[in-house]
Amino acid sequence: MKEVRTRFAPSPTGFLHLGGVRTNFYAWLLARHFGGKFILRIEDTDQERLVPGSIKAILEDLKWLGLDIDEGPAMEELIKVDTGWDGTEGIGGPYGPYIQSQRLPRYKEVAEHLVKIGVAYRCDCTHEMLEKERADQMARRETPGYSGYCRHRDVSPDSKHVIRLKMAADETLSLDDAVKGKVVWEKISLRDPVLFKSGGFPLYHLAVVVDDHDMKISHVMRGEEWLATAPIHISLYKALGWEQPVFCHLPNVLGQDGKKLSKRHGATHVKSFREAGYLPEALINFLLLLGWNPGEGEQQEIFTRDEMIKRFSIDRVNNAAAVFSYDKLNWMNGMYIRGLSKEKFVDAIRPYLLAKDIKVDEARLAAIAPHIQERMKFLNETPDLIDFLFKEKIERDLPAMMGKDVDATKAKEIIAASIEAISAVSDFTVPNVEAAVRSIPEKMGLKVGPVFAVIRISVTGKKITPPLFESIVVLGKDATIARLKETIELI
Ligand code: GLU
Repeated sequence: MKEVRTRFAPSPTGFLHLGGVRTNFYAWLLARHFGGKFILRIEDTDQERLVPGSIKAILEDLKWLGLDIDEGPAMEELIKVDTGWDGTEGIGGPYGPYIQSQRLPRYKEVAEHLVKIGVAYRCDCTHEMLEKERADQMARRETPGYSGYCRHRDVSPDSKHVIRLKMAADETLSLDDAVKGKVVWEKISLRDPVLFKSGGFPLYHLAVVVDDHDMKISHVMRGEEWLATAPIHISLYKALGWEQPVFCHLPNVLGQDGKKLSKRHGATHVKSFREAGYLPEALINFLLLLGWNPGEGEQQEIFTRDEMIKRFSIDRVNNAAAVFSYDKLNWMNGMYIRGLSKEKFVDAIRPYLLAKDIKVDEARLAAIAPHIQERMKFLNETPDLIDFLFKEKIERDLPAMMGKDVDATKAKEIIAASIEAISAVSDFTVPNVEAAVRSIPEKMGLKVGPVFAVIRISVTGKKITPPLFESIVVLGKDATIARLKETIELI
C-alpha cells in the first residue's frame, strides 16, 4: 500500500472552527492509523481574507488538541507571512514551501502548461464585460457563468489576463468518494473557472490540485462544500495525467436546529473551548463520535487516543450530517475530568489559576485538588472555587451570611464560637475539624446550614466552595483563625 499522507489545509482567516477541526482530526487519525504522515499546508491565496495571527492560533490549537504534524511550514516560511508568529518553532519537510503564497512560481508553471496543452486559455475579459454578461444571463433566467468568449481568441500572454480551464460541458464525470459514495455529474454546469489570476496568484482549484499532487497526498479529507466544485479538480487531474487522491467529503456539522453550526449555537472555535475549561481529550473524543461510529450495536463512548487510532476507519464515517450537542460534550468533559490521575488533574487546572495571576501554592493545590475534581464540569471553574487558598486578602459576600436565623449579632457569635472551637483542635485533620465545627450549631441551638454558611463565607469569602472541613484543613489553622477574626471586624 502507498504511504498514507493526509493534510490539513486551512486558510488563515481567523480561529479554527470546530467543524473544520473534526474533518481534519479524521485526516490525522487516518494518517496515524496507517503509520503515515499528517501535513499542514497554509492556503493563503485569497490575500484579501487573511487575518494576521491566524497561523499562530492554528498551530496553538493543533498543539493543544494533540494533533501532531509531520510536515508543514518551516520557520523561515512562517516568519515571512504571519505577523503574529514569534518565530520559535517551525516544522519543515521535503515538499515545502508549505505556504501557498510561497509557491506561486509552481502554480504559474502548471497554469502555463495547461494553456500549452490546450486545456486552459487566457482570458482578458474586463470586470465590466463579465458583469454585463452575468446580468444578461440572469435576465434570460440562465445559470450565470462565463460564456467562454475568450476560448478561441488567442489572447496575448503580454496582456492583463487570467487563465481559465476549459470545462467540457458534455462530458460525464464521476467520483468514487470514500464517504459520499459514487457521485456522478451528468452535465457539468460549472463554466470555465479561473485557475490563475492576473496578479500572479492561483485560485484554490489550481493550487489545491498542484499541492496535493506535489506533496504526494493520498487522501483528501475536506468539507462537503467542496464537492460541488470537485469536477474542476477531477478535470485537472485528468488533464495533467496525475493520479487522483482518494477524496473523502465530510458532511456538515449542524446545530440542534438543523442549521450549519455557527456562533448562534454557542462556542464554535477551538480556542473558546480551551478557554472555557474543556479538556482536549474530551473534545477530541467528542469529535470522534461526531461523524464516526464504532459499529452496529457498539456502546463504547469513551476512547483512549490509542484506541481511536487503532479503530478509526473511513468506512465508519457517517455520510449524513452530524448534530452537535453541547450537553453531550459537557457530559464527556465531566467524565474526562473525573478520569484524570491526581497529578494530571493538578496540571490541567493550574493554568487557569496562573491565567488569573494567582500565585499558586503547590502543596495547597495538591491537597485541595481531589475535593474539586469530583464536582467540576469545566476546568475554568477552578479560580472561583479555590482562589481563597492562594490570596492574602479575600473579598467576602457578607450579606449572603444573613438569613432568617442569623443577623449580624448572631453571625458574630457563630464566628466567635468557631474561633474557640477551631483553636482547640490540636491535630488539624479533617475528622477533628469536622467534630469541632459540628459542635457549634449543636451548642448554639441553631441549624447546621446557616452556621456553616457563616463559617464558609468568613473563611473563603464565598457561598460555593470545596467541602468545608477539607477547605479549612488545607487553608491551615492559623490562616483560618485569622480570617474568622477579620470577619468579626468587618460585620
Ligand atoms: N483552504 C480550504 C479551506 O480552508 C481547504 C479545503 C481543502 O481541504 O481542500 O476551506
